[in-house]
Amino acid sequence: MAEEDSTAAQQAAPEPELAPYLIEAARSSRSKCRTCRRKIEKGKLRLGILLEGPYGTGYLWHHLTCAARRRLEDVEAAYADQAFEDGLAVPPLSKLQALEENAAKERANRKEPPYVERSPSGRSKCKNCGEAIAKDALRVVLAREISFGSQVRVTPIYVHAGCVRAELQSKDCMTPTDGFEEQVRQNSRLEASVVNEALAAVGDLEG
Ligand SMILES: [Zn+2]
Ligand SMILES: [Zn+2]
Repeated sequence: MAEEDSTAAQQAAPEPELAPYLIEAARSSRSKCRTCRRKIEKGKLRLGILLEGPYGTGYLWHHLTCAARRRLEDVEAAYADQAFEDGLAVPPLSKLQALEENAAKERANRKEPPYVERSPSGRSKCKNCGEAIAKDALRVVLAREISFGSQVRVTPIYVHAGCVRAELQSKDCMTPTDGFEEQVRQNSRLEASVVNEALAAVGDLEG
């Protein structure tokens, strides 16, 4: 410790100021991506975003591709700053921008239960009665809580319209009965008349 201190004192020069962004190939596999929370393997391109905090200054790392999907403005700023060494093989910015576009589309298409859709095949089974749901039949997607050991997750499940009422009463069902119709109307991407048809098949949920 003492030795380190004296070395630091001898050098006396202030640490070089860190740039706000740094793109590099990960020098080890020890950093974690702040976006996807997974390890960044050695050699993978990562984006460091400088964080100046009360306990010091350092980079928070993201996979470059994860950063593109979730915080493109930082990636664009890093490219504008040329925040990487000459000769580092970084993908063209247009490619990262395309990633972001796709990710935004995916987010927009992500559907929240409850909603109604047409069953794309005859392969799904109703999680309430266990019977198959016919191809093109209107099926209702609800949220169910499931646990794996100590982990609890909410997952979408498919049920027949006629099984919705029973499923909503099950204790694992996370879709509330209150406001069910309004939610379905809001979340479904089918024509209103089709949604009405499904809701008619669901029947009266009160009483
Ligand atoms: Zn990541
Ligand atoms: Zn059913």
